[in-house]
Amino acid sequence: MSEALLTDLRFYRLLLAFDGDLAALARAERCRRCDGVLHSARYWRKPRGLPAGLGEEYRQRFSFCCARRECRTRKTAKSLRFLGRKIYAATILVLVSALRRGATPATRRQLQTLVGASRRTVTRWHRWWCETFIRTPFWQSARATLHAPVSTAALPASLLERFAGDPATQLLALLRFLGPLTGGITVHAM
Ligand SMILES: [Zn+2]
Repeated sequence: MSEALLTDLRFYRLLLAFDGDLAALARAERCRRCDGVLHSARYWRKPRGLPAGLGEEYRQRFSFCCARRECRTRKTAKSLRFLGRKIYAATILVLVSALRRGATPATRRQLQTLVGASRRTVTRWHRWWCETFIRTPFWQSARATLHAPVSTAALPASLLERFAGDPATQLLALLRFLGPLTGGITVHAM
């Protein structure tokens, strides 16, 4: 685990590049409802806690809309930058939650300051991992693919350590693992 990744612009840019690839894949799959062509329909997010220096594109969620007027199904690509509708970037939700485990109060405060989150917000993330995340259909099926059970009380640190490599590689692998939580389709009301 590494706190340095929280402010590493190269790492964040790498996530953007991977999101570009995931978007291209999502678009190539066409509309899941009618097999129509997908048009780009990006939307803006206001992710918090990111270091300065990332361009405007970083705030765009890569999403598509079926070109057929009678369908218009929206499909949002999986993302390594955003975790569902959470306001803070996925990297922050994972790393700050993992690093605060066993940390001294001073270190916890430092982490909060680094990403501009209050203690209450960080506590809420902890609860999200230990209470909401574990009840998602994604986790219910994904946990079966792991070699041994992970401690749910120690999430996401306990999950992060299941992936091999240096801290950046581990985090990338975990963000990819969480991918199914982040994309999906929305059928528009007619
Ligand atoms: Zn369609």
